[in-house]
Amino acid sequence: MEVWTLLRKLFWQNRSQSSGKYFKGTLAHMLRKQGDCPVCSFCEEELEKFYWWFFYNHYGELPWIKRVLKSNGFCSKHAWNIAEMKKGDQMSFLYRYLVKDTLRKLEKIASQGYKDTREEIKPSNICPICGQISSTSTLWIQQLVKYLEDTEIKELYFGSSGLCMNHFDQALHFAPPNVGLTLIEKQLRELNRLSVDLEKCSSTLAEQPYEVEKEKAWIKAMGFFAGKEL
Ligand SMILES: [Zn+2]
Ligand SMILES: [Zn+2]
Repeated sequence: MEVWTLLRKLFWQNRSQSSGKYFKGTLAHMLRKQGDCPVCSFCEEELEKFYWWFFYNHYGELPWIKRVLKSNGFCSKHAWNIAEMKKGDQMSFLYRYLVKDTLRKLEKIASQGYKDTREEIKPSNICPICGQISSTSTLWIQQLVKYLEDTEIKELYFGSSGLCMNHFDQALHFAPPNVGLTLIEKQLRELNRLSVDLEKCSSTLAEQPYEVEKEKAWIKAMGFFAGKEL
């Protein structure tokens, strides 16, 4: 067994053996960080790890090649993110498969005479990176909703920056009524804070020193609705 495979196995074994402790501890750690939606931050951290594994090894494994073929590569956002990372060897490998696979499909269609081809070339999967982000956010939203019944985590949550509106919406989907009310209460506090900041900065009497605060206020509001760029 290669060293990296062994390390990965040990990491996941360790994580699952103490999963309750791991989830609560990691949640507490992320909630203590100020400034961003904790679920967005989880996704960002996990995405960094995922990219590392993906470019190191996963990209060449059959299940991942199949996923890339089923999604017609990556969405435009992640394709261009990867291009900026300059992963030429890995992408040349994957896109060789994708180009050949698409050629084969279209040649088959052409040989059968024209008909509606959309179903045959439409991707059946979402972009693998989007898929990874989506499963990470679902996992951590479920954990947050579960641990919001714990006094320590609830306190930390009220002291944190709270969820972005995207993740708040998803959290409500998993939350029982009492946790749903906790989520709404926190969101109301954050919205009131944003409203006060934006009002202060919208004053036409605002002088030069307010310009920095004004910039911060609308960026905070935008981030609150859009979440982090992942
Ligand atoms: Zn978020
Ligand atoms: Zn994507």
